[in-house]
Amino acid sequence: LMFNPSAERLFGFKADEVIGKNINILMPEPYHSQHDSYIQKYLQTGENKVIGLSREVVGLRKDGTSFPMYLSVGEMESQGQKMFTGIGHDLTEIYLAKEKAEVANKAKSEFLANMSHEIRTPMNSVIGFSDLLSALINDKKQKSYIESIQTAGRSLLKLINDILDLSKVEAGRLEIQYEKISIRFFFQEIEQIFKVKIEEKQLQLLLEIDSEIPEFLRIDEVRLRQVLINLVGNAVKFTERGHIKIRVKTKDKTENHDKINLIIEVEDTGIGIPQDQHELIFESFRQQDGQSIRKYGGTGLGLSLTKKLVELMNGRISVKSAPNEGSCFAIQLLSVDVPSNVPIEIRKKEAFTPQRFRFEEGLVLVVDDIESNRRLITESLSQMGLEFVEADNGKNALLFADEFSPDVILMDIRMPIMDGYEATQKLRNNPNTTDIPVIAITASVSKGDISTIKELGFDGYLSKPVNLHALLLELSKYLRCENISETTESPEEKGEQDFSDEHWNVPPEIMEQLENKFQKEWETVKNYGVFNNIEVFGTQLLQLGNDNDIPPLSKFGETLTSQSESFDIEGLNRTLASYPKLLERLRSKLL
Ligand code: ADP
Repeated sequence: LMFNPSAERLFGFKADEVIGKNINILMPEPYHSQHDSYIQKYLQTGENKVIGLSREVVGLRKDGTSFPMYLSVGEMESQGQKMFTGIGHDLTEIYLAKEKAEVANKAKSEFLANMSHEIRTPMNSVIGFSDLLSALINDKKQKSYIESIQTAGRSLLKLINDILDLSKVEAGRLEIQYEKISIRFFFQEIEQIFKVKIEEKQLQLLLEIDSEIPEFLRIDEVRLRQVLINLVGNAVKFTERGHIKIRVKTKDKTENHDKINLIIEVEDTGIGIPQDQHELIFESFRQQDGQSIRKYGGTGLGLSLTKKLVELMNGRISVKSAPNEGSCFAIQLLSVDVPSNVPIEIRKKEAFTPQRFRFEEGLVLVVDDIESNRRLITESLSQMGLEFVEADNGKNALLFADEFSPDVILMDIRMPIMDGYEATQKLRNNPNTTDIPVIAITASVSKGDISTIKELGFDGYLSKPVNLHALLLELSKYLRCENISETTESPEEKGEQDFSDEHWNVPPEIMEQLENKFQKEWETVKNYGVFNNIEVFGTQLLQLGNDNDIPPLSKFGETLTSQSESFDIEGLNRTLASYPKLLERLRSKLL
C-alpha cells in the first residue's frame, strides 16, 4: 500500500515497483518463504511469530545484494481491514562496527599478553637478584631497602600476572589443565597460605569439607588455587573482626559416582557489599563505590579474573552480601571428574641422597639468550658449589654440550637462532648428548603439562622466575649432593623422643584424630612425599601438640616442618617412619 522514500533508498526499488506486490520480495530465502507462512498462520490461528515483535533478518535489494536488517512489524485496523506496517533498519554499519571492535579487542588482548610476557623477563631479574642480594647483606638499613624492592617487585609481578591471565582468557589462549588433586590437602594448603595474615588480624579461618566430597578430584589445581587465593584474600582484606569460613560441599548427592557438582563457598563477617554493586565488582578495574584506596589498595582485577577462570572450568560464581553483614562468594563447578583409581606416584627417593645445599662436583650448561637470566641462575649454581658453562642460543648449546658433556642442561625455550625445543630434539639425536638430562625453563605461567614436556624430550621443567628451592630440588634429581654440615642424628629424628618432664596427657578425642584423620594424611604424605604437603601435615601436628600441651607431638610436627623446609629427605623419611611409634607412645599416656 505504501513504500516511503527511506525504503526506496534502502532497497533500491521505486515505490511503484513494489506497491501492490507481496512484501516478501524484499527478503531472500529462508525469510522470503517464512514471511508468508507466519502471516497466514497468524491470520488463521492467531499464533504469532512476527507481529509486534522485532527481530534480525536479512533484507534484499533490487540489485540482488542483501544486508542485515532489524525488522519490526506492527498491526492496525482500518475500516474493518487488518493492515500491517513493517519498519526496517539497515544494520550494516553496526555489524561492521561490532566486527571492528571485536578485532580491536582481540588485538588489545594479544598485545597485553605479549607485553606482560616481556615485562616478566626483566622482573625476573629484579626479584631474583634482590633475593640473592638480600642473602649477602647484613646492614639493617640496606636490608630494609632490599625488602622494599622485593615487596614492590612481587606486587608488580602479581599485577602483571593478573593482566597476563586476563588477556590470555580474553584472547582464548588460556587452557585448563585437569589433574588429580587431593581436595583436603589442597584446602589445607590454602589455609596455610593465609595462616599468618589471619593470625595478624586475629581472625579465625574455618574449613568445612563435607564428608561426601571424594578424596581426589580432577581439577586444574593452579587455576583453582588462584581463584581461592583471590576470594579468601578479599575476605581477609575486608574483614576486621570475626571469621572466614571455607565450605566445600556437593549439590546432587544421588548422581553417579564419577562426576560431582562441587560447591565452594567463602564466607566472611566483613564490611559486605551493597546489592546494587554485586555485578559491578566482577568487572575489570572496578571496586565498591567510594572505597578507600589507601586502606584497601588493590586493582579491581581479582574478581574479574576469578569469574573468567571459574567459567573456563565449567563453573559459575555468585555473591550474597549486604553492608555490614559480611559476604559469601559461592562457586559451583559442574561435572567435576572423580578419578576411579588413583595410582600412587611414589617419588624417586633414591634420587635425593643428601641433606644440605651443597652438591658434589657437577657441571651445568645454562642456555638462555638473556644475559641477566643466565647470571641469576649461574649465581645460584655457584652458591650450591656447581660449575657452569653458558650458551646464549640453542645452536651454541649443541656445540657446548658436545664439547663439555655437562651433567645437566637448563634450557630456555624462546631463543633466537635456535629455540629450546629444536635444540633439545637435536641433543636427543646425537649419541654423545642423548643421555644428558635437559630441564626446560619456561616463562609461561600456565603450569606446563608434564607429559608434553616429556614428549618434547625434556626430563623436567622449571617455571620462570626460577626460585632457588625449585632449582635445587630439580637438580638434586640428577646430581649428587654432599653433606656439608655434620649432623648427628638427634633422638627425635630417630623417633625416640625423650621428654623428662612428663606432666602431659593425651585426651581421647585427640588420640582419635591422630589415629584416623591424621593417620590417613600420614599415609598419603608418606607415599607422595610432596614437601608442601609434609609441611602442612607437620604444622597441623605442631599446632595440635601446642594447643593440647603434648610436647612429643609438637616436637614431631616441628621436626617435620623444619626438615621439609631444608629439603632434608633422609631426615623426613626417618621422622615420617616414626609416626606409628609416636602414636604408641601417646596411647600410653591416654587420659
Ligand atoms: P581488589 O580486591 O583488587 O580491589 P577484586 O576484583 O578482587 O579487586 O574485588 C573488587 C571489589 O569487590 C573490591 O575492591 C571490594 O570493593 C569488593 N569485594 C570483593 N570481595 C569482598 C569481600 N569479601 N567483602 C567486601 N567487599 C568485597
